[in-house]
Amino acid sequence: MSLVVIGTVAFDAIETPFGKTDKIVGGAATYASLAASYFYKKTKIVAVVGEDFHEEDINSIKEHGIDVEGLQIKKGEKSFFWAGKYHNDMNSRDTLATELNVLADFDPIIPESYQDCEFLMLGNLTPQIQQTVIKRLKNRPKLIVMDTMNFWMDIAMDDLLETIKMVDVLTINDAEARQLSGEYSLVKAANKILTMGPKYLIIKKGEHGALLFHEDQIFSAPALPLAEVFDPTGAGDTFAGGFIGFLSQVGTVNFNNMKNAIIYGSALASFCVEKFGTERIKNLTQEEIAARVQEFVKLSSFVISK
Ligand code: AMP
Repeated sequence: MSLVVIGTVAFDAIETPFGKTDKIVGGAATYASLAASYFYKKTKIVAVVGEDFHEEDINSIKEHGIDVEGLQIKKGEKSFFWAGKYHNDMNSRDTLATELNVLADFDPIIPESYQDCEFLMLGNLTPQIQQTVIKRLKNRPKLIVMDTMNFWMDIAMDDLLETIKMVDVLTINDAEARQLSGEYSLVKAANKILTMGPKYLIIKKGEHGALLFHEDQIFSAPALPLAEVFDPTGAGDTFAGGFIGFLSQVGTVNFNNMKNAIIYGSALASFCVEKFGTERIKNLTQEEIAARVQEFVKLSSFVISK
């Protein structure tokens, strides 16, 4: 049994109030698979890069035990490129460039060895491609989690709605939940989105945590108040990777395990923002993760005294 992660493997150029990077390795699948690898060893990636991607960058993914048989390298083509600039509050950003390059005609190949996929993470990517991956798996995975963003709502809403129908869990941020539902209230937005297909909805609220909706139940997870946020890029993907990685390790999907998975996902995301790009989440220890999870427990547990 395995966890298959699909998404972009990319070059990013990031600007925050603390500094600027040239092209560094990023991408939804990179962040999500690295995060998942701390919980689940059989993590496999489906993605595409261009000839400009360096072997050492692929090796740094492989070093985490991630299977890259499904990572295509396109000769003579360029990798997906994204550039973004964060505002002073670090909660909002402008996308300066999205160059699809190899993604424009990406035909995902699912190696035979990936057909044992039990957990599927559809990381941020063209919704049509996310859907193709579901169809190319011979057996429907036990759990399909999908992440997406406003970019795809703007240019491929019909495909997005089709794909959403096929998944179990959707993770989006608050602004995207409002855009997708046309409702301002997040509760109303969630109720509407839960009629579109997914049984579970996670609304990420950046530095304000995340909400999990399922039938008439709601769980609210905090975000760790951090004195310094260096670079929020990839926090959402890291969250999603930690979430599904934890569930893959546990093996049983239910509301209670999802609550724990949200805390583990949030813990990994809190590390992600501490350094530029993937630098921090490439170098974590199990002890650091366990200690961070305890901080979350302490942060939100209380006793009502009569
Ligand atoms: P996040 O900060 O969690 O939204 O993720 C940022 C990552 O998503 C960056 O590493 C980008 O390479 C990648 N990304 C940005 N735009 C897109 C897009 N339209 N589709 C897929 N991945 C994207």
